Formats: sequence, C-alpha cells, structure tokens
Amino acid sequence: MECRKCGACCIALSVSTLKKPAGVRCPHLLPDNLCALWGKPERPWACSAFEPDPDFCGSNYLEALRLMSRLEQICVNANILQGHLPPQDRR
Ligand code: SF4
Ligand code: SF4
Repeated sequence: MECRKCGACCIALSVSTLKKPAGVRCPHLLPDNLCALWGKPERPWACSAFEPDPDFCGSNYLEALRLMSRLEQICVNANILQGHLPPQDRR
C-alpha cells in the first residue's frame, strides 16, 4: 500500500533509539504529520525500514492507531512472558 502520511505509526509505535514510548507523539513529527528527519542520516533505521502495510495501517488514521497500539501491547506482553521463562528458553 502507499503511505497516506497520516503519522499514526509515529505516535502509536515505540522507537527505542529515540527513547520514544508507544502512544507518545514523536518529537520529530511535524504539525502536518511529516517526519522532520526524512532523508537525514539521523533518522532511526527502524523508521526508514518501516513499510506501510494494511495489517498495521488499516484504512484510516484511527484504525492505524488501534491496530498498532494492539501490536505494541502484544510485544509488551511477549517481553513480560519472556522474563518469566528460564534463561535457556529465552530468545
Ligand atoms: S500509519 Fe501507515 S499510512 Fe500512516 S504514516 Fe504510518 S506507514 Fe504511513
Ligand atoms: S523519527 Fe520520523 S519517522 Fe521516526 S517516529 Fe519520529 S517522526 Fe516518525
């Protein structure tokens, strides 16, 4: 799919290199929801590698926020579960 430049991914997803938690607007997200670091070397690799996908982006901004927030929660839960596994079973 083509990115509709809604900015939902820059709010809903965490970006570890920026220490940006999930659900918080990225400080580099401009008022028009474009990335201020676009094309610059300091743009995080994770942001450059992220591809729009209907499974994550849905069909509109609110749907993207909902889908990506759920994805983040699944990752948080998986990390919590990993913490309860014996070391040899952790990935
Ligand atoms: S949520 Fe998807 S459509 Fe919206 S800006 Fe991010 S990649 Fe593009
Ligand atoms: S650095 Fe740019 S692409 Fe990455 S989360 Fe922030 S605004 Fe979005």
